[in-house]
Order: sequence, then C-alpha cells, then structure tokens
Amino acid sequence: MPTAESLRSDATFDQMDLSDEMLAALAKAGYEHPTPVQAGLIPRALDGIDVMGQARTGTGKTAAFAIPILEGLRGDVKRGPQALVLVPTRELAVQVRDEFVKLAEGQRVRSVALYGGKPIRQQIEKMRGGVDVAIGTPGRLLDLMQRGALSLGDVDIIVLDEADRMLDIGFRPDIEKILRRAPNDRQTLLLSATIPPPVERLARKYMDHPEVLNFSPAEISGDTIDQYYFTVDGERKFDLLVALLEREQPKQAIIFCRTKRGVDKIHHRLQRKYPDAECIHGDLAQRVRDRVMAAFRAGKVRLLVATDVVGRGIDVSGISHIINYDIPQFCDDYVHRVGRTGRMGREGVAYTFVAPEEGNELTRIEVRINRLLDRAEIAGFETIAKPTGDPSALDELADGEEAPAPKPPPFGRGGRMPRRYRRAL
Ligand code: AMP
Repeated sequence: MPTAESLRSDATFDQMDLSDEMLAALAKAGYEHPTPVQAGLIPRALDGIDVMGQARTGTGKTAAFAIPILEGLRGDVKRGPQALVLVPTRELAVQVRDEFVKLAEGQRVRSVALYGGKPIRQQIEKMRGGVDVAIGTPGRLLDLMQRGALSLGDVDIIVLDEADRMLDIGFRPDIEKILRRAPNDRQTLLLSATIPPPVERLARKYMDHPEVLNFSPAEISGDTIDQYYFTVDGERKFDLLVALLEREQPKQAIIFCRTKRGVDKIHHRLQRKYPDAECIHGDLAQRVRDRVMAAFRAGKVRLLVATDVVGRGIDVSGISHIINYDIPQFCDDYVHRVGRTGRMGREGVAYTFVAPEEGNELTRIEVRINRLLDRAEIAGFETIAKPTGDPSALDELADGEEAPAPKPPPFGRGGRMPRRYRRAL
C-alpha cells in the first residue's frame, strides 16, 4: 500500500485557495505537497459537492476532509458542532481528532473525540463549552444525541470515514438515525476502502448526487508493475522509443498509440529496424488481426503497435513492457493498457511518453491510480524539462467541467454555499 510519502505530487497547497492560517499549519505539519486523495477531494469539498471517495488509510485521507472542514468553519461560536465525523473505532476517533488539532494550529477550533468505553459524563463535560468538530463512533454519538448532550442543528458537513468498516461492524442503523436527524442541506463526504453495494446504497439514500472518485488502483496489480514516465518533445518520441527498446530489450512489448494512423506510422518506421514488429487496429481485416494476435501469443511477434480499442482485450502472459507512445486520453485507458503486463503476478514495466504540455494528463492518471509515476531518464534525452501540469486540472477529472475558480453565488449543487466562502461571511 502506498504511503503518504510515496504519494507526494507536484501540486502544491498554495494553488488550492486555502487560508494563510491553514498554509502555515500545513507547513508546520511538514505537508509540502497534497497527496492524490487531497488533490482530488479538497477542491470539491470546498465547492460544497458531495463526494464518495474510494481511498485506503495511509493515503492522507484524513487531512483531505479535515482541511476543507476547517476552512469552512464559520468562526462564530455555536454550541453544537458544525462538522460531524463518523468513524468505526475509538482509535480512529482519536487519530482523526489529533489530525484536526494539528491542522487547526493557530486557530480557535474545538475538536472532540467521542467514543464508547469511556465514561460518557466526561465527554458531556468536554462539550459543555461548545464544540466545532465532533468526531465519534456512531453508537456513542447517538447516545449523546439521545441524552440531549449533542445537537445536530448546526451541522453543515458530515463525513462517513471508513464507511465499509462501519457497515461491517453493524453500525448501519445508528448511522441512518444520525443522518436522518442532521439538516437536509448539509454536505456529505464518504470515504471507504471499498465500495460494496451496501455502501453504495447508503450513499444513494443520504447523499446529494455524490461525485464518485476512485483513488484505489483496482485493476492494476501495482506491486508487480514498475511505472515510469519520460518527458519528451513530440518530434523526438520515435528516437526515444528506439533508444528505450535498445536499452530494455523487451521480451514482448505493446506500444500504444492514440490513433490508427499513428499506429500505422510508428509500425512502418519500426519495422525497418525490427522486422519482428507488427501492428493491430480496428481498420485491419479481422483475419489479419487474428493472424497478428496468434503470432504475438506464440512469441513470434516481439513488438506490437496497437490502439486502445484493440489493445484492451489482449491477454498474453509474456508481455514484459508496455510503452505508451502517446499518453492515453482517458485515465481508464491507462489502467487497461498497463494491465496488459504484470499479469498473474509476473513482473512488468510500463513507460509513458509525456510531452512538456501534457503534465495535466499525467497528473490525472496519477490521481486515478493513486500512485506517482517515477521519472525515467535515458542517455541523450535527459535535458528535457519536467512536464508542467496545472493542478487545478484535477478538478476537470471526472466531469469534464471547467476548473472551479471562485465564483459568485448561487453556490454549488442545489444552491449550497461552497465551504471556501463561509469563512468570509
Ligand atoms: P491518513 O491516510 O489520513 O491516515 O494519513 C496517513 C499519514 O500521512 C498521516 O501520518 C498523516 O500525518 C500523513 N500525511 C497526510 N497528508 C500528508 C501530506 N500531504 N504530506 C505528508 N504527509 C501527509
């Protein structure tokens, strides 16, 4: 499982429109770059959108919801919490509370952890002066509500953390009771390592058109596939391909291009140097495709140039290398392409060629697979600069909409006010 450290990206917190206090707290915590979960979740949460995110622990998911929550606190003193975080265990309640305390450094924010196994009186006492963020297990939260010690009237955001675990433990009835008693116009974020049907049903019932983000590399057996990228200008790509093939001497490789014409062109040039190169795409007659695939499967063809559509279904166990000559247009295509190698626990390696202006595409792929690609170098090509991605492009990922620049009301979906504006009001 990737650690937060291994998930550092080139996006920065500065580009996220956060308050000076928050930037100072992040610097103090030593968080230099948002992890992919943070890069994906924070802008949406700030915009008031309901999000169902598939993310495991160790990915920085706690800060991903704590940052927008803290940014949205209205500053006025309320008795009841403005944010409620539901967690499956007392350990997690304490851990999440500590993260809130760390990120609220320099601000007057009252965060409490509420969980069973400790005298309820103490916790009621703790809340007496008012509370901004309540983090707790569903059973104890409900208990406190029933005793009149916890009111949800001021809640404008609820987080269901580790939702799958909470349902496994049997918290569904408690969670539903809590959600039913919270204000209807609240925002809801749900995080879960897996999204089985019960989690989906919960989301459908209690969330407002949730946007679904997947930060888990579901289809990639990430452990067995090394994934790299090269930065390269368009006109040097072919030379880089040849240099890479010379260095790697792949047992069998698929070279993916975006278009059929591109496949033909690369195949044509490649065949002059490598007679055992073939190509496959949708314009070729079926019998030609069958013949090429049979030869590839038999190991007679070593290099296969292909488009996504045809490349998807290829299940050949000897493929050692995937080369994305053109960066895929859609993140899912990356997952499918790279999934052609490393099959059945075998080792594989994937290289993606990225033009300097294609940094955004690279970032989107990294968010999709919840992993950063390593930069590769090869003699003669090392002078080229790193691609520059606009991190706001992350906002365009799933819905193809413009990156949400701060915009005037009406706010968000269903007229809900984005969290980033609340502080100013
Ligand atoms: P979590 O997935 O929330 O349990 O976080 C895992 C660990 O990553 C925690 O120890 C956090 O303090 C740490 N962490 C969270 N975000 C970042 C970041 N942007 N940079 C470095 N460490 C982080």
